[in-house]
This record gives sequence, structure tokens and C-alpha cells, in this order.
Amino acid sequence: MSNCIFCKIINKEIPSAVVYEDEKVMAFKDINPVAPVHVLIVPKMHIGSIKELTEENAGILADIHLAAKKIAQELGIYEKGFRLINNCGEDAGQTVFHLHYHLIGGKSLGAKII
Ligand code: AMP
Ligand code: ZN
Repeated sequence: MSNCIFCKIINKEIPSAVVYEDEKVMAFKDINPVAPVHVLIVPKMHIGSIKELTEENAGILADIHLAAKKIAQELGIYEKGFRLINNCGEDAGQTVFHLHYHLIGGKSLGAKII
């Protein structure tokens, strides 16, 4: 999608700190981290949000979760734990409309979700 900032990152049209890449998934450091480790995991295919998932494309969620596991291992947060968050739509505060999961860790995040 031509005006999507994450598609531009995926196409290397704008720079980012890539930490993982495979055929279907990319992950890069969040520009505004909320924890010592804060990575965004995205499908290379443009999907706007969970609302655009279908029977045909939902397999990407397994790919994203498997990437999250590998990245957590590589970035040293696997043993102590991490959080994988998706914001979907206005009330959730989604600001970039290319499906992404925040992989957050490297400190105690507490038991509360919000
Ligand atoms: P969300 O509220 O879930 O849509 O979060 C979007 C995230 O994208 C925010 O945490 C931003 O800091 C992050 N972000 C926006 N632009 C960039 C960028 N160019 N490179 C890395 N992260 C970005
Ligand atoms: Zn996109």
C-alpha cells in the first residue's frame, strides 16, 4: 500500500532498525520504545488490522507468533517473559493501520494489562 508507513519500512523506502526478517514477516524496533525491548512485528503483506483477517490470510498470525518466539530468544527476553500486544481500532489507540504486534519486555511489566 503506497501511503502506508510500515509498507515503506518493509520496502526499505524509509529506514528502520530491523531485528528479524523472513519471507512473510518483518520486525523492527519501535521508534518510541516503552520498555528496554520494544519491537513491532508486521506481516510483509499489507493487512490493515485484525478486522481485515480472513480464513485465507489468518495463517500469518502463526507466522507472527513463531517470529515473536525467535525474536524473544535472540533479544534475551525469552526466559523472563514478554508481552505481545495488538491495538485494533480507535478505542484501542491504533495509530498505524498496518497490522502489527508490539513485542515488549526487558523489565517487569506487572500483572495488569492496562
Ligand atoms: P499502535 O498504537 O499500535 O498503532 O502503534 C504504532 C507504533 O508504531 C507506535 O508505538 C509508534 O511508536 C510506532 N512507529 C510509528 N512510526 C514508526 C517508525 N517509522 N518506525 C518505528 N516505529 C514506528
Ligand atoms: Zn502497509
